[in-house]
Amino acid sequence: MVYDAIVIGSGISGGWAAKELCEKGLKTLLLERGRDVKHGDYPTALLKPWEFADRLLTTQKDLQDQPVQSQACDPGSKHFFVNDNDHPYVQDSPFAWIRGYQVGGRSLVWGRQCYRWSDLDFEANLRDGFGVDWPIRYKDIAPWYTYVEKFIGVSGQSDGLPQLPDGAFLSPMQLNCIENHLKESIRNKNEERLLTIARVANLTSPIGSRGSCLNRNLCSRGCPFGAYFSSNSSTIPAALATGNLTLRPFSVVSEIIYDDTTRRAKGVRVIDMLTMQHYEFAARIIFVNASTIGSTSILLNSKSARFPDGLGNDSGALGHNLMDHHSAAGASGQHEGFQDSYYKGRRPCGFLIPRYRNINNGDEKLDFVRGYNIQGDGERAEWPDRMYESDETGADFKARLTTPGKWSVWMAGWGECLPYHDNKVYLSKTKKDKWGQPLVHIDFSFGENEKKMMEDIRNTCGEMLTEAGFKNIDTFIYHKSGGLTVHEMGTARMGRDPKTSVLNANNQIHNVKNVFVTDGSCMTSSACQNPSLTYMALTARAAAYAVDQLKKGEL
Ligand SMILES: Cc1cc2nc3c(=O)[nH]c(=O)nc-3n(C[C@H](O)[C@H](O)[C@H](O)COP(=O)(O)OP(=O)(O)OC[C@H]3O[C@@H](n4cnc5c(N)ncnc54)[C@H](O)[C@@H]3O)c2cc1C
Ligand code: SF4
Repeated sequence: MVYDAIVIGSGISGGWAAKELCEKGLKTLLLERGRDVKHGDYPTALLKPWEFADRLLTTQKDLQDQPVQSQACDPGSKHFFVNDNDHPYVQDSPFAWIRGYQVGGRSLVWGRQCYRWSDLDFEANLRDGFGVDWPIRYKDIAPWYTYVEKFIGVSGQSDGLPQLPDGAFLSPMQLNCIENHLKESIRNKNEERLLTIARVANLTSPIGSRGSCLNRNLCSRGCPFGAYFSSNSSTIPAALATGNLTLRPFSVVSEIIYDDTTRRAKGVRVIDMLTMQHYEFAARIIFVNASTIGSTSILLNSKSARFPDGLGNDSGALGHNLMDHHSAAGASGQHEGFQDSYYKGRRPCGFLIPRYRNINNGDEKLDFVRGYNIQGDGERAEWPDRMYESDETGADFKARLTTPGKWSVWMAGWGECLPYHDNKVYLSKTKKDKWGQPLVHIDFSFGENEKKMMEDIRNTCGEMLTEAGFKNIDTFIYHKSGGLTVHEMGTARMGRDPKTSVLNANNQIHNVKNVFVTDGSCMTSSACQNPSLTYMALTARAAAYAVDQLKKGEL
């Protein structure tokens, strides 16, 4: 059978590709290397801390099984992250490759922060000369942001900022008193800096069968109410409802098969993860959504006489320009006021201070280009925060523990990373995994621009807290490796020129028109906003284009 479409990977972007293609009438095969996870199959979602064997503490066994992943997961969510021993890779330099191999991918565990990009971002490469120019601008993607936001549900505040366009928001979550205090203080000193509530894909009112968020802040365990967006709760059910979707878990795609005669891809090779059987599946179009590094490794592994260095790699850009945001610098502090204020519930998001650096043509004369936003959280210490204050026991200690502590704020900068050619992924010539696939090498480090930006973040965060009357201020730059912000992107970039980029303005491989790559690998620069909303919008846009081209007989 020849499918109309194959989608590789069922995470945030692959779920969107499957939904859009199925809803447009295409018989679609969704290939996912991990196990199936049906919506509701969230075994830890409703467990209390004392119902976990190890009381939610990371054990030595966890560290042995997941030395990399345990930097991003906890015992409540670890089953949605890979076992690092089963899925090795080679770190030429330290890089945490955080992965979730299952139906839904990392959509089950993501932080749900959703921010649009603006032309400040789409024009950045052209303006300062780092990387190649994006082949699209904000106007090309704006309607697709709206389309995606309406389906996934994004709660947020409209702020009217040109550098962070507003979206089609559900009602926002609320700032608490310490965050409002910090907001006022920052605004009084710097009019261009705005502290606002985070924009998150958590529902503040129901959408269809998905219920409103109950403010449990346990989202990384899966939400039985479907109150945050995941492929499992949202896009995959929508795709299945069309009757056009065939979902095949345990299907490791090893390569895309290129047909020299038609100059198109004709299908994919798959290894069944359980039986080790090899299969081929054919389709008219292929969407590659195996996550940035996963997709890039499939393309690099897809060699033919026409493409000896990997499918669509005429430019040599495939695998290069790996980016990840840095989120290592910031500050925290305590405030002695507001002792008569408290709140109930656990809001599943913090606050955001949108980018305020380098937004006015470099007037500020900073020693770095691009910018960062600040993400943070204000809270009053509760008993779990206080239990390490003393090793006492007894009624007095219990009474003290259950008395709320001081208010505090923690905040850090999510900073743009430039596209550097030397930051790259490539395939091992000798080492293989248990499915016979070449291991991925990752070679990544942050450059001088990112390091100077981190210093600016640390200093300005410290200043903002000092000016707002915080005490015990700790300013920091952690030594975090790349990968830990989990926004890896850029290794099959879009561009105007096939000599310097892999994909065109519609996410099509320049010289293999029926292959579309719409996950983070397509990104030409990283901006500083959390990127998944942009992956979803680009995916929906590319799917509409692909179906239109199919109908016109162009593919
Ligand atoms: C803890 C955490 C917090 C995050 N917070 C945010 C946030 O707040 N905002 C934000 O924008 N982003 C956030 N992210 C990042 C976000 O999760 C990713 O950007 C997003 O999931 C990428 O979508 P994707 O479709 O490219 O990949 P994924 O969601 O990772 O899905 C890829 C899928 O492809 C499958 N796959 C891989 N290789 C193959 C193969 N060879 N064959 C078949 N299938 C394959 C995988 O098993 C997986 O299911 C966070 C991530 C983590 C881990
Ligand atoms: S905080 Fe809201 S979205 Fe998250 S798991 Fe709880 S109810 Fe679901």
